[in-house]
Amino acid sequence: MANWPALAALVARAGRPLVVEALRAWADEKRGSDEVGDEAACARWCAARLARLVEPSQRRVFNLTGTVLHTNLGRALLAEEAIAAAVEAMRSPTTLEYDLADGGRGERDDHVGPWLHRLTGAEAACAVNNNAAAVLLVLAAMAQGREVIVSRGELIEIGGAFRIPDIMARAGCRLVEVGTTNRTHLKDYAEAIGPDTAAIMKVHPSNYAVTGFSKSVSAAELVPLAREKGLPVIEDLGSGTLVDLETWGLPHEPTAREAIEAGIDVVTFSGDKLLGGPQAGLVVGRRDWISRIARHPMKRALRLDKVRLAALEATLRLYADPARLVERLPTVRALARPAADIRAIAERLLPVAKRAFAKAGVAVAIEESRGQIGSGALPVDLLPSFALTLRGKKLDGLAAALRGLPIPVIGRIADGALWLDLRTLDDEAAFAAQLDGRDVVAV
Ligand SMILES: *Cc1c(COP(=O)(O)O)cnc(C)c1O
Repeated sequence: MANWPALAALVARAGRPLVVEALRAWADEKRGSDEVGDEAACARWCAARLARLVEPSQRRVFNLTGTVLHTNLGRALLAEEAIAAAVEAMRSPTTLEYDLADGGRGERDDHVGPWLHRLTGAEAACAVNNNAAAVLLVLAAMAQGREVIVSRGELIEIGGAFRIPDIMARAGCRLVEVGTTNRTHLKDYAEAIGPDTAAIMKVHPSNYAVTGFSKSVSAAELVPLAREKGLPVIEDLGSGTLVDLETWGLPHEPTAREAIEAGIDVVTFSGDKLLGGPQAGLVVGRRDWISRIARHPMKRALRLDKVRLAALEATLRLYADPARLVERLPTVRALARPAADIRAIAERLLPVAKRAFAKAGVAVAIEESRGQIGSGALPVDLLPSFALTLRGKKLDGLAAALRGLPIPVIGRIADGALWLDLRTLDDEAAFAAQLDGRDVVAV
């Protein structure tokens, strides 16, 4: 059967082993039927099966959830400069750990250290796989076998099983909890310090907010106490932006520079949250601590590859010109997009959406919507936006039909409508082209 002429094109496209596998499946399914020997039917069936098989498992989608940094949809989109740098690094040998000046060994962290110094004021920096890895490594290198003091108000869990008490245990540290869920005072930290204390840690409560009768101790208050006792202060900033979001009318989110200026010894944050780069965990701080962290055996297991380092370096370089960030960095562009611009996109898309959903019997409208930064940043602040809303019966089926499009569209069902929030639409032309002339009906 594998030699049937009708299958030759398939063999050329997908290779012989996959075609043979498809033929076996065909033979199994049609065993005993007359159809089993039908060459044309078999070729069609195998072609359909192979088309499904060779489709990438990780697909491009339209993120219309309203969440700019959607963890399940891959968080930050890279800047063109970062994409180009990553592609170049993928294709060629690079000076990843090579010093061109003397032909000797170089340090991979040197590609990002000087930029992070310029952007945060920190003496030194290193980069690892993600921020969870950064926290794990920092704790293991600075406090293994000893105690770390954390406020009960900051014992966070973020998605994907990252819990501060668990990470602490995995790093071999003993967690000493102080204060209460809603209030922690400086004296709570002071009283917990003992001969076994290795560090005090602050964690940015990124995905929730304690409001009302609450009190936490700022870095500015904590640092003098730690200095007096000869202890380092670690801060996990989570998103840790490099620029003040207030520039674009957004609420304040702590920056890495603020933490360093407040005297925090070691600060960790993510590369693919507000920073807008590839997945990475950044550790910045005092030179003596950073070199101890970089020399820890776990660093070798958590380090970044040349591709992500190239993308990260290119992303950091964009921050040297903050005035052009909106234009060059997709995360900042999405966050800074004025609601009026989003409304204009909605108005342009409304006619094509109305036509595409006419057969589904749903009402398409433009409505004010509220988006989120996502990935833990500013949990309680919602970004004013506009959405196309689809109202009608069978919303689940309609959402499934949108997910079934060639470029799946991911929206959000709330208040009796399917919301397609347009703040995060990155390619309006492709979105319109996909809907144009197509009937989308609930499945
Ligand atoms: C997101 C986050 C992390 C984990 O960062 P990843 O880069 O996803 O590993 C850790 N701590 C805080 C406070 C966070 O917000």
